[in-house]
Amino acid sequence: MDDMIFLPYPLEEESPSSILKRFALGHGCECPAQLQDFTFMINLNKSEMTICSPLVQWIAARAGRDAQRFLAGFYIPLVREGKHGPFEINGTIVPSKFIRRGPVAFCSQCWDERHERYIKDISLTECCPYHHRRYIHECPACHHKLYWISALNGRCACGHVFVSEACSDDDVYSERYLLETIRNQDSSALSKLKMLLLELGYCYNRGGDSEERKVVLNAAAGIMRGQRQYIDEYLHYQTKKYPHIPLSYIQAKLRHINEPVIKTSLEQFRMDHTPAPSLPAPSFVDPPEFELSRAQLVRISRHSMKELKNCQRTLDFHGQGTVYARYLIDILCHY
Ligand SMILES: [Zn+2]
Ligand SMILES: [Zn+2]
Repeated sequence: MDDMIFLPYPLEEESPSSILKRFALGHGCECPAQLQDFTFMINLNKSEMTICSPLVQWIAARAGRDAQRFLAGFYIPLVREGKHGPFEINGTIVPSKFIRRGPVAFCSQCWDERHERYIKDISLTECCPYHHRRYIHECPACHHKLYWISALNGRCACGHVFVSEACSDDDVYSERYLLETIRNQDSSALSKLKMLLLELGYCYNRGGDSEERKVVLNAAAGIMRGQRQYIDEYLHYQTKKYPHIPLSYIQAKLRHINEPVIKTSLEQFRMDHTPAPSLPAPSFVDPPEFELSRAQLVRISRHSMKELKNCQRTLDFHGQGTVYARYLIDILCHY
């Protein structure tokens, strides 16, 4: 093992970056530069999550007969390394879009235990479901983004000590769903969740509206679990965000998803259009653009896909992908 004196074995549900951080600490490295000197690795900020990554291979090559036990803690890329594709995590196929790459999520309590969990590597998560703590993504003092190798001693290079803010049980609803799904090795549920997020208009870009992301994700998890509360909240949120859009257009986002819980939610929405009490009404300075997919548009406009395409050509309207702006809906409905 040359100068390697400590080989960490994976803990239960541990994130690969946590294993590598324990390796660094075990060799007296308290900052990235020290680990760099020890391993001769450059660019340690790069995500180190799969069995193919150079640092993981460097350690495995020195681990002798314990290499397999060490490697078992790392994700298996399902496309060639270097390409962005799905990973296998705990025997579950996790879609590429669900994987957090680059800057990481950090729960100070997980790291206090020296045991960060793989759920933090899922890009949809905002809170740690083990400790009910909000993940930190950047230093609140100097705004440096956190990478896997950051905060080995629990603090930023600027000296700020990271403490994750507490959150409620309700805040970790979708995180709990994701954790259960990966524990159950339910790859098809994750694939269906991805489809639902597309239908409901989930924005993967972290620069987008975080409240809206949560409402959409909770609604998708609610549909998967057959629980109505978050679907009702989604409809309420949409009506507040798009007060200028007819309710039938808003319902079109859900109408074709064939789940009994949605049928009940939509019936209730039509009968009793009162706001859900637990969700404050969002306020918007400018009304945002409402979007429907081509398939959703066809359903509410009673026009065929062919007619829709002809209309688009006639109007010389260039949609972005399969998404069309609100005014096209109005035109189509009177076409
Ligand atoms: Zn935690
Ligand atoms: Zn800082």
